[in-house]
Amino acid sequence: MLIDLHAHSSASDGSLSPEELIDYAIEKEIKILALCDHDTTGGLSRFIAYGAGKDINTISGLEISATWEKGNCHIMGLGISSDYAPLESILQKIRDSRDNRNLHIIEKLNSFGIDITIDQVESLAGGDVIARPHIARAMLNKGHVSSVQEAFDKYLAKGAPAYVDRYRLDPENAVQLLLEARSLPVLAHPSQLRLSTEELDNFVEKVKCMGLAGMEIYTPYTPDDELPLYINIAEKYNLFITGGSDFHGESKPNHFLGYYRKDKPIPESCAIAVI
Ligand SMILES: [Zn+2]
Ligand SMILES: [Zn+2]
Repeated sequence: MLIDLHAHSSASDGSLSPEELIDYAIEKEIKILALCDHDTTGGLSRFIAYGAGKDINTISGLEISATWEKGNCHIMGLGISSDYAPLESILQKIRDSRDNRNLHIIEKLNSFGIDITIDQVESLAGGDVIARPHIARAMLNKGHVSSVQEAFDKYLAKGAPAYVDRYRLDPENAVQLLLEARSLPVLAHPSQLRLSTEELDNFVEKVKCMGLAGMEIYTPYTPDDELPLYINIAEKYNLFITGGSDFHGESKPNHFLGYYRKDKPIPESCAIAVI
């Protein structure tokens, strides 16, 4: 049985709508699928409604980007309830902050003599989410840089002169909020935290105290030979083990729904916690 506990739709940065995602999953014979869009529950009601009565088990999810120094700290809530008002107001604050951030970045770029406007950037974005890659493309179109990578390296990356951070929850508060919204908090793709084994152990101990329930082990980001390391930590802290492809459709073509690597199905046992 194929399952996938981590997929995105066009409600965040995936290329398929919630309905298209379900049709695609059924075509791929996925039996259990969780939609975990970034910082929004906006696609969930359509996802659940469209999946009802079809040959697939749909799970409501969410993926929150928490504050983190080195890499990425993403915490997912599986089984999230999207009618919890405090959650929705914090997610709105996160999205507003992303929009303000874009304006601040453009102001900084303008002060360096880089002449781009928010309208030019917005015209390059396909949906509601406007992010730094769109700003980079506007800079490229105007000839201020010779590639998107150069725009990031010289101006937009963390630590570069036009970098602006946005409002985020710290990992502990993200776990707490996801618990309050009656979901199971799961640490997504832990290898992206870029921690040593000892640092990871300490971090997991801390968030476990706040209520972390699971750890995503079977992900495209973790090399096979490192899987036992993550499994050991999950077992040590009594966390359930999940798996997901982090499917984004065409936005991330090397992620395959139902598989954590092209030919490796996500183990069925990962579904135990959510069914
Ligand atoms: Zn993520
Ligand atoms: Zn994701």
